[in-house]
This record gives sequence, C-alpha cells and structure tokens, in this order.
Amino acid sequence: MKNKIMYTKPSIGELEIAYVTDAVTHGWGDKCYDYINKLERNFSEYLGVRYAIATSSCTGALHMGMAALGIGPGDEVILADTNWIASVVPVVHLGATPVFVDIDPDNWCISVQQAERAITSKTKAIIAVHLYGNLCDMDGLRQLARTYGLALIEDAAEALGSEYKGNKAGSMGTFSAFSFHGTKTMTTGEGGIFATNDEALYQKVLTLSNHGRKTGQNKQFWPDEIGFKYKMSNIQAALGCAQLERIEELITAKRKVFHRYAELMKGLPRIQLNPESHECVNSYWMPTVVFSEDSGIHQKQLQEAFLAENIDARVFFWPLSALPMFKENKSNTNAYSICQRAMNLPSFVDISMDEQKRVVAVLTELITKNIK
Ligand SMILES: *Cc1c(COP(=O)(O)O)cnc(C)c1O
Repeated sequence: MKNKIMYTKPSIGELEIAYVTDAVTHGWGDKCYDYINKLERNFSEYLGVRYAIATSSCTGALHMGMAALGIGPGDEVILADTNWIASVVPVVHLGATPVFVDIDPDNWCISVQQAERAITSKTKAIIAVHLYGNLCDMDGLRQLARTYGLALIEDAAEALGSEYKGNKAGSMGTFSAFSFHGTKTMTTGEGGIFATNDEALYQKVLTLSNHGRKTGQNKQFWPDEIGFKYKMSNIQAALGCAQLERIEELITAKRKVFHRYAELMKGLPRIQLNPESHECVNSYWMPTVVFSEDSGIHQKQLQEAFLAENIDARVFFWPLSALPMFKENKSNTNAYSICQRAMNLPSFVDISMDEQKRVVAVLTELITKNIK
C-alpha cells in the first residue's frame, strides 16, 4: 500500500512550540490573557477591522454575533444551500428560520439573484460564506443589504487571506467569523474569532462573550444578562499568535499547492478548479475539482479511485437542505448537482510535488477511462 496522503494537516514549527511552551509555563495569573489580547490585536490589524474577539470556535463567534444582532424567532436568515453545517446551526439555536438558496455555478457561493428572490419582510440577515477560499459577490450582496436594510454576515472560516477588490475576506460585512480548527489555514487546535468595525455590536458581543458581564461593571460575579461561554484559552491563543506571524508564508504555500495542481491538470478536459475572479485573491484553502455534467464522472467513482490509491480526498459539501433536519429543496439545482461530481483535493502546506502528482494521476486515469 502506498503511504497515505492526508487531506489537511497544520504546519507547526518552532515558533508555535516556543509560544505555547511560554503560555503553558508562564501564562497564568496576571498574564493569563496576554496571548489572547495579542491575538485579538494582531488579527484585527491583519484583517483591517477595528475589533476582534477570540472564541472557542467559528460556530460560537457566529452564534454570539447573530444573538447580538437580535436574530430570533420569526426572523429569516438567507444563506447558500451548499455549506458546512456550522454556518446554519446558530440560526437554528436562536429560533430563527434558515432560508437556503442556490449557489452560483461559477464561484460555488451564494447566488445574489437567488438571495434577492428569497427576501421577505421577515428577512433579517444574509450570510455570505466564502466557500473553499472562493469569494462571494460582495458588491452584489452589499447592495442587497443596503437596499433591504439587512445585516450582512461574513463566514470567512475558509477564506483567511482571500481578498475582494483590495479588501480582506471578513472585513466587509456587518461582522465576520473565522475558524482556527485544525483543518483551516491557520489553527489553534479548536478556535475562532469574531470581527467587526461596528463599535456598538462589538460591545454587545464582548458582554455576551463574558457571560453577560458588561465592561465597566464593577460588582464582582455580577452578570447583567444571559450570555455565552465561547472563550479561547491563552494557550490556544499562543498557538494562534505564532500562526498569525507566519500567515503570509502559510497563504503563499496554499497558493503554491493550488497552482501546482492547476499546472499538473493543464489540458485535462471537463474539469473546473476554484476560480479566482478579476480583482480578487483566492487563498485557496481547499483546492477542489468539479467535473462538468457531461463528463459522466460521479462522486462515487472519484471517492473509490482516491481510496484505492490511499489518498484522503473529501466530498464536496452536501446541500444543507438535503440533511434530515431540514426540508429538501431540489430547486437549488446547482447545489444538488455540483456536489455529485466534485472532490476536495489534499492541500496541506507541505504536500510534496510527488504527492500532488499521485493525486492528479487518479484524475487523469478517470478521465482517460470515462471521457472519449
Ligand atoms: C470550518 C467552518 C466553520 C466552523 O468552524 P468551527 O471553528 O469548527 O466552529 C464554519 N463555517 C465554515 C464555512 C467552515 O468551513
């Protein structure tokens, strides 16, 4: 059996080990927030936003942000049907109704036209999820948000380092959320961050994130309202600080992995890779192949072929509306079709050229066998 090619794994070096060792050795008592404060400061500066709050996950950051916006029962929140479950879970927990709309077949992100059609008097927000590093049409979505008076939430968990017309993904919405899960471009093991330019919203989330204790509340052990406990530890933040110092290196490496795939696949017919549209930078968190409908190549064949070569490639996200807890909506034809003929490719930052060639060889053989 050939050695296994993992689909993701973090890049951990001496800097990470040094910071985490420092945090676990000295980061207690007076210093128990030092790395957390540093991570929040450095991350907001990197992103070009005013405020950031480190959290235990992206899901937690989204939950608190939506709670602070007052999203609740009777409200509708629009998002793309093609998504990881995490983007919609907070909507459900808050008692609001998710409305799943189709994706744009070119960027695999929410279709602005479909989002507009789904707006009702109950709509409170649109969630823009930058899928696999690809960018949503932010001009279109911002226009909708302005016209209809909606919040625009950026779930930038997969798009750290991507840029839309000079703005970093996660710097353009009412608020944004990132994930530092072990599979993401930058990791703290588990973790995430909330970011916004809106001072009032920041203050609200800060209070919520502190079990409802308001800044300036001098009475000890005195929460002013019901909040959340989605905090990041100082030890995790130390890991995050090191990763953030290396962020340009990590993103350059992700882009290099993608460009090698693109080069190796040059000339292969009926394949689409992640797009990078005009005036955008894709940080290519997850290089993904989508076969054309007329290729006849199905996800099942892809999965089997990769498995036979001991390559851990992953399936494209299923439509959320196809999951048992939601109502099926097959009119989202792109979401239901693309996932049947697509695959995420291994893309950890130090994957070797030989390993990438092994991945592409699987695709080449499938195409040779199936496409006349
Ligand atoms: C990974 C991911 C999340 C969830 O992140 P957690 O930190 O695991 O909560 C949310 N949204 C998207 C788009 C993701 O890819």
